Amino acid sequence: MSNVLVINAGSSSIKYQLVDAETGERSAAGLVERIGQRGSEGRIVHRSEGEGSAGARFERELPVPDHTAGFSAMVEAFAACGTPVEGLDIRAVGHRVVQGGSEFFEPTLIDDRVADRILELGALAPLHNPGQYQAIMAARARFDVPHVAVFDTAFHQTIPQRAYTYAIDRDVADRHGVRRYGFHGVSHQVVSRRAAAFLGRPIESLRQIVLHLGNGASACAIDGGRSVDTSMGFTPLEGLVMGTRGGDVDPGALLHLLRAGLETDELDALLNRGSGLAGLAGSNDFRDVWAAAEAGDGAARLALDVYAHRARHYIGAYLAVLGGADALVFTAGVGENHAGIRARICGGLEWLGVEIDPSRNEAAAAGPRRIGTDASRVEVLVVPTDEEAEIARQSWRLVAG
Ligand code: ADP
Repeated sequence: MSNVLVINAGSSSIKYQLVDAETGERSAAGLVERIGQRGSEGRIVHRSEGEGSAGARFERELPVPDHTAGFSAMVEAFAACGTPVEGLDIRAVGHRVVQGGSEFFEPTLIDDRVADRILELGALAPLHNPGQYQAIMAARARFDVPHVAVFDTAFHQTIPQRAYTYAIDRDVADRHGVRRYGFHGVSHQVVSRRAAAFLGRPIESLRQIVLHLGNGASACAIDGGRSVDTSMGFTPLEGLVMGTRGGDVDPGALLHLLRAGLETDELDALLNRGSGLAGLAGSNDFRDVWAAAEAGDGAARLALDVYAHRARHYIGAYLAVLGGADALVFTAGVGENHAGIRARICGGLEWLGVEIDPSRNEAAAAGPRRIGTDASRVEVLVVPTDEEAEIARQSWRLVAG
C-alpha cells in the first residue's frame, strides 16, 4: 500500500486527493472552497470511493475562516463518509507549494526549517504560500508521516539565466528576488513525460511546447524533458490570457493606473481576479465565453481573439527558443476539452509544420491522443494533466527511496 494524501491549497481553496502512488488510483477526493471570504460561508464537497463506502458523497456549507479550518473540514468529511483518516493507512502527505524561490529544486521533505522557508517565500507569493503553510502545519500536526513539498517552480529551475532574467537594475532585482520563476511546473513535467510515452520516444530526444490552458494558463518550452522557458514569470500573472488574469501587460500601464489613483489592493484585484476572460467578456468560464461569441457577442469574440493570438505568439517564440518543435501539446480544462480553440490556435501554422486533423481534433475521447495529421511535421497532441497523481508519485519516490 502506498497511500499518499495530496493537498493542493490555493489562495481560497484546498483540493485534496487520496492516491495510491504506485497505481495512480484515487480512493477519495474533495474540494474546500471560499476559504476566508468575508460575507460568504465556505463549502466542502467530498467523495470517497473506497470499499464499503462506494460512492459516498459529502457536501456542506460551513464557516471556513482560514486554511487550518479548511484542513479540519477535510478530516471531518472523511469521517462523515465512514472512512476516518486514522483508518486509511496514509503513508505520506504530498503538498503542492506554489513558490519555491531559487532554492527548492526538487521534492523536499518538510521539517521545521523547510516549513519556515515556505512561509518566508510568501513574500514572493502572498496569495498562495501563506495558506499552503497553514495547511502544511495542520497536516503535520495530524499525520505523523513524512510530509513532502512539491514545488510548482521546481521544474523551471533548468531555465537558463538569459531567459529567467528581467532586464531591470540587477541590484534591485537581486535584493528583491525579482526574476522569472515559472509555475505549473508539476503539470508541464507530467504532461511532457506522458507525451513522450504516448509517442514511444525517449523524452531526451524531444523538443516540446506544452500549452496548459485551464483557469490558470501557461506555455512551456521543454527541451529533452527540461524546461527552458515558460510564460509565467515572477508571479503567475504573466504570459497567456487566463480565466481572471490577463497575462502580459506593459508595466507602464500599471504605473499609469497607480498614478491615476488606483490603490495597490485594487490593482492587485484587477490583475488577479478582474482581468483575462472575466475582464474582457464577463465570465472566467471558457465555455460561457465561447457560447457568447457564437451567439454574436462582440466582447466575447474579442476575448477569444486575444486569447488565441497570445497563445500563437508564445508558440512562435518557443519555436525560436527550441529551434523547432517535435510536439505541440494541449492540456488542462480548456486545452483537453475544447476542440474549437485548439483549431483556432493552430490555424494557419501549416507552414511551420503544424497541421490539425479536424476529425481527430473533434473526436470525443479521453486519454492522450494525436490530433495532428499523419503528415504534420510537428506532432499535435492532447495529453490530460494529472497534477495530484504526479505529486503523489514524486512524494512517494522521495519517501520510499
Ligand atoms: P484549474 O486551473 O482551476 O485547474 P482547469 O484546468 O480545470 O482549471 O480548467 C478550467 C477551465 O476549463 C474553465 O475555463 C472551463 O470552462 C474549462 N473547461 C472545463 N471543461 C471544459 C469542457 N468540457 N469544454 C470546454 N472547456 C472546459
